[in-house]
Amino acid sequence: MSDTVTDTLTPVLTANWGAERSWTLESYEQHGGYQALKKALGMAPDDIISAVKDSGLRGRGGAGFPTGMKWSFIPQDNPKPKYLVVNADESEPGTCKDIPLMMASPHTLVEGVIISSFAIRANKAFIYIRGEVLHVIRRVQAAVAEAYAAGHLGQDIHGSGFDLDIVVHAGAGAYICGEETALLEGLEGRRGQPRLRPPFPAVAGLYASPTVINNVESIASVPSIIANGAEWFSSMGTEKSKGYGIFSLSGHVTSPGQYEAPLGITLRQLIDLAGGMRPGPDGQPARLKFWTPGGSSTPLLTEEHLDLPLDFESMGEAGTMLGTRALQLFDETTCVVRAVLRWTEFYKHESCGKCTPCREGTWWLVQTLAALERGEGSESDLDLLLDQCENILGRSFCALGDGATSPISSSIKFFRDEYLAHLTHGGCPFDPAASTAWA
Ligand code: NAD
Ligand code: SF4
Repeated sequence: MSDTVTDTLTPVLTANWGAERSWTLESYEQHGGYQALKKALGMAPDDIISAVKDSGLRGRGGAGFPTGMKWSFIPQDNPKPKYLVVNADESEPGTCKDIPLMMASPHTLVEGVIISSFAIRANKAFIYIRGEVLHVIRRVQAAVAEAYAAGHLGQDIHGSGFDLDIVVHAGAGAYICGEETALLEGLEGRRGQPRLRPPFPAVAGLYASPTVINNVESIASVPSIIANGAEWFSSMGTEKSKGYGIFSLSGHVTSPGQYEAPLGITLRQLIDLAGGMRPGPDGQPARLKFWTPGGSSTPLLTEEHLDLPLDFESMGEAGTMLGTRALQLFDETTCVVRAVLRWTEFYKHESCGKCTPCREGTWWLVQTLAALERGEGSESDLDLLLDQCENILGRSFCALGDGATSPISSSIKFFRDEYLAHLTHGGCPFDPAASTAWA
């Protein structure tokens, strides 16, 4: 790996993941942890909100909504309690950044929660973690307990007069609970189904009180902004997509993993950092066939998009979304129809059933796709599939329905011939033994 390539990395959140027992308070404090909290407690809460606004930090959970702006929507004249809720229900296929962050450095999140709660004047914060990852829940619980014991949490934190309690909540294994209002329903003890927005949670969220909901990585980025200043953060990235982010590479690369770099880096650079595509049968790096920029609900891209900056704007212009920077890479051994079918089965399974276009539509998508994958039907079934997508897109109650259509419509756009090849071949034209991706 050349110096020029490694120079593009900006390890901040990931900087100490390799340190011995990096998840402990002792290790975190040895590396400067909780200094930002001490600085923040000496600031006016509104100045913290301004710093986060000026930094240009945009939500790292996928949508990219400006974090400081979201915080400023909390009506401070509302007498109800304010809440901070961390969305740690990371479940989007391919998305795998928050879980390693919470495992390697849970105190970065805890410190971020304390500073953010202080800024929005919340005295209670919740960290909602997906229930399947018991080891992560235990690790975050242990970090919260350490923070209480050290006086970083509880009553009158470091003599500031500020009180904060953190509750670590385990979800119950539903993808839809990553949708912020379904998550709130779950926290309140009800079945996880999305609520109508507006009102947005900033106005009426948990227990109908003003609530900020942010992704793990967004909140974990706050201590570095307070410690180093808004300008430091905004000097990285692009004009409208500021700062650094964790890019998760998975699939057919030599070294899959987390690569922290400024927004605007390209996939070509990231593949270089990951040691190139994995070797093909001839020992040469395999050729990239298709990839997702931010999980399976962001429309697919291909080799021709390798040099596009990975930022919110460029991805939008390319007809996709930056999403969660979950870069899943597939080489030419992968059957795109089969991959898309797998994702669609996931969305059908996870549809919460509240609205008809998604509940019924995802079922139909699976039926049509599965028949095509088996080589049954005719070319007109491709148009039927696109028609089904059109009847879901923009007509569903929440983003799950829309997201389910993304891999289908984008794969037909780029790989129509491969769908047709299934029909002429009477099934998958790929040798299943040669495909390691979906075996
Ligand atoms: P959204 O754009 O509707 O909202 C983003 C955030 O901004 C929300 O917190 C919302 O409350 C806030 N917001 C938006 N407009 C507002 C307004 N006018 N006033 C106050 N607040 C406002 O996006 P979404 O539906 O919440 O999330 C969709 C995203 O989730 C997708 O982009 C996808 O990438 C991502 N996603 C992530 C995962 C994961 O595992 N991390 C899983 C599925 C989807
Ligand atoms: Fe539920 Fe799907 Fe409708 Fe969202 S789009 S409310 S997940 S049925």
